[in-house]
Amino acid sequence: MIPYAKPLIGEEEKKRVLEVMDSGMIASGPVTAQFEKEFSAYLGAEYGIATSNGTTALHVALLAAGVQPGDKVLTTPFTFIASGNSILYCDAKPVFVDIDPNTFLIDPEKVKEALEKDPEIKALLIVHLYGLSCDMDRIMPLVEKHNLILIEDCAQSHGAEYKGKKTGSFGQAAAFSFYPTKNMTTGEGGMVVTSREDIAAKARQIINHGRSGRYFHDMLGYNYRMTDIAAAIGSVQLGKLDGFNAKRVANARYLSEKLQGLTWLQTPYVPEQCSHVYHQYTVKVEKRDAFAQWLQEKGIGNSIVYPIPIHQQPFYQEIVGKELVLPRAEEVAEQVISLPIHPALTLEQLEEMVTTIKSFAF
Ligand SMILES: *Cc1c(COP(=O)(O)O)cnc(C)c1O
Repeated sequence: MIPYAKPLIGEEEKKRVLEVMDSGMIASGPVTAQFEKEFSAYLGAEYGIATSNGTTALHVALLAAGVQPGDKVLTTPFTFIASGNSILYCDAKPVFVDIDPNTFLIDPEKVKEALEKDPEIKALLIVHLYGLSCDMDRIMPLVEKHNLILIEDCAQSHGAEYKGKKTGSFGQAAAFSFYPTKNMTTGEGGMVVTSREDIAAKARQIINHGRSGRYFHDMLGYNYRMTDIAAAIGSVQLGKLDGFNAKRVANARYLSEKLQGLTWLQTPYVPEQCSHVYHQYTVKVEKRDAFAQWLQEKGIGNSIVYPIPIHQQPFYQEIVGKELVLPRAEEVAEQVISLPIHPALTLEQLEEMVTTIKSFAF
């Protein structure tokens, strides 16, 4: 079986975790503070606020950037459920617009239309899905023109760039996840990144039960802190991130080259101005479900990311209405399948994948 995902934890991570265990300080402490500095510096941002996971990072990023109850937040339906849920946690209202069927990302044209139709939209939550940056040259002017709060969901885009600028450095705040399947991991973990001092201070307060002094609380907050055990893993993993990404890119290049000629399979599209970090290597296939089952039988891990766009999830249909149709997201959800791309893959495994895929009796 070729595993679909595989976290790579080395001796250095284990050693650093043991050091934390022996230090007597295992909750949020100096190692977390150090990891926050290293991670924000990697992105070229001023502040990092480590959190318990990527979902809490998103919740905090939205709140700290000023999303309030009742606010309309524009976003993509083609993403992990956490992107939508974090808007609901703020008692804000998600407004879903359709995607570009080639990049799978929110379509700036649809963003523009929605903003022109509804001047009440206050914020935009973009998702750099699969490791590919959104079209920032078309999104930023809209953000400025409509005075929007821009939040970036970077849970899949650690190190990805748009015209040489890292995702997570465009909006007022960004949220990262360090779940084990992501480009780097801390077990569970997340990070809010911002260059705005006021947003950083508010985020810090929110993850600490709203405290602004010792046992003094002037707002509702949560316990969303990261532990030093997780941060110790993250600090070592960050040092390996560029290497992990380079391996993902090399694996993707290999697959895309070998699978190029297949008429029934479409390899990932990468706009010239983007450097993709391939959190997922996602192809479009017509007979997707048959293909998925067949890969499974042949021992090749795979995943459908995502089979149901958020606006079609039963729970969301009550919120956005059953009549909302976003044809491209709905069509893409029936065509996509993600193949193993993680840095632990061997050349033999890549060769086996190509041979097997090519022999699919389409
Ligand atoms: C993984 C992920 C999240 C949530 O991160 P967790 O650490 O699992 O809470 C949010 N958005 C996207 C796009 C993700 O892929």
